[in-house]
Amino acid sequence: MKENFLGVDVCTLNYKQITSAIIEDIEQRKKSFIVAINPEKIMKAKQDESLRTLLNKADYQIPDGIGVILASRLKGGEIRERVTGIDLMLAICKEAELNGKSIFLYGAKPGIADAARVELEKQYPSLRIAGTLNGYEKDEEVIKNTINNANPDIIFVALGSPAQENWILSHMHELAPSIYQGVGGSFDVISGRIKRAPEFYQKMGAEWLYRLLKEPWRWKRQLLLPKFLLEVMKK
Ligand code: UDP
Repeated sequence: MKENFLGVDVCTLNYKQITSAIIEDIEQRKKSFIVAINPEKIMKAKQDESLRTLLNKADYQIPDGIGVILASRLKGGEIRERVTGIDLMLAICKEAELNGKSIFLYGAKPGIADAARVELEKQYPSLRIAGTLNGYEKDEEVIKNTINNANPDIIFVALGSPAQENWILSHMHELAPSIYQGVGGSFDVISGRIKRAPEFYQKMGAEWLYRLLKEPWRWKRQLLLPKFLLEVMKK
């Protein structure tokens, strides 16, 4: 079940449905790729066919960002709940812990994935964390061997977008994990190196407002949201 916004697919599943589907994929030895979609990525993909193809190749495109929810409402679609990359990652960790599946953390500056690992071990004491690798290791053989020797069911890839999505698509066929999720700066947040917007803003779906207040020079980037909604309406 997917909805399409300006050429980009977004799946209609919520956290619970995605985490269950993923455990099922692992059991079936099916490879799956999860990508977070927001208005910024959709607008970029509109001009960039290869990015559009890349995003549409994913198995689960999650509606990360209030703009996609608004667009779905405008189009009479059924996406009502945001699924953010970091919250889905944490929900997957919880489900993996319950089902005895293992995870791997690949990406971010040296030391960050290890610090994130320590935090995840606190939150999910029985979670199997098969290994970590920083995102600045450039030797393809080392990367491949480190991941395959650890042999995890799930890998979270934090290289930034669209580098992580490109990396996932070009390597998933030769790697052990069943599930691949691109998670951007999530390890920086989980490790505590970067602070997320307070819960109030998260609950209101207004992290954009928090960022605007903290970093007012971003206002130009945020003009993208009304522009995106206008384009969706015109369609
Ligand atoms: N990063 C990395 N290797 C690189 C470039 C970036 O591991 O060669 C990491 C970086 O340390 C950060 C993440 O990728 O943890 C990118 O985070 P950002 O918030 O920029 O993600 P995006 O906004 O692109 O989702």
